[in-house]
Amino acid sequence: MVEDIYMHKSKTKEGREKMRAIALKLGLRPPSRKGIKLSAIVIEKLKKYWSGRPRGPYSEERKRKISLAHLGKHRSEEHRRKIGLALLGNKYSLGRKMSDEERKMRSLAAPRGEKSYSWKGGITPINAKIRASLKYRLWREEIFKRDNYTCVWCKDNKGGNLNADHIKPFSWFPKLRFSFDNGQTLCETCHDWKTKMDLKVFRGKAVPLNIIYA
Ligand SMILES: [Zn+2]
Repeated sequence: MVEDIYMHKSKTKEGREKMRAIALKLGLRPPSRKGIKLSAIVIEKLKKYWSGRPRGPYSEERKRKISLAHLGKHRSEEHRRKIGLALLGNKYSLGRKMSDEERKMRSLAAPRGEKSYSWKGGITPINAKIRASLKYRLWREEIFKRDNYTCVWCKDNKGGNLNADHIKPFSWFPKLRFSFDNGQTLCETCHDWKTKMDLKVFRGKAVPLNIIYA
């Protein structure tokens, strides 16, 4: 299917040829504006729009303002696809590092909740909600405190490395999720191993070790 798309004009002849080749390969055809007559109304509108407006090339200041004004705007799938095609061969962002300020602005402006690209329709799994809850965080903190912030298996006590493990796993024992007797402090390594064991045991692929689940 041949389809019209808008493509930015490349400055070099080589660039233009490359884009034409890509467009042909994709079955796309850049629209020709040649011979298209604008109606008097459109010409009037354009004149009005541009009168007093600064034309390119834009100053750095103005580019920045335009960029800020567009932050967080939502584009349709179609629109994004077209921009992607239009920018084929454009190497502007390659290896370009965002400044901390720009990263922050982008993050602040990004659409939240149902407007976010990653919105899945309000289906935060119940388990994730529990783990984010205050009650859960307090349970976790109590376990750490009781175990002196030390892995009960290997005695590792490096900060930031500790997990509050559910001795009888979280998923299979809903009633024991906030039981202090069912919690223990494990380091990352021991916890990974324990989690793998849990899966095997509770899927019936390994025999439970008394040491772990007694
Ligand atoms: Zn450990």
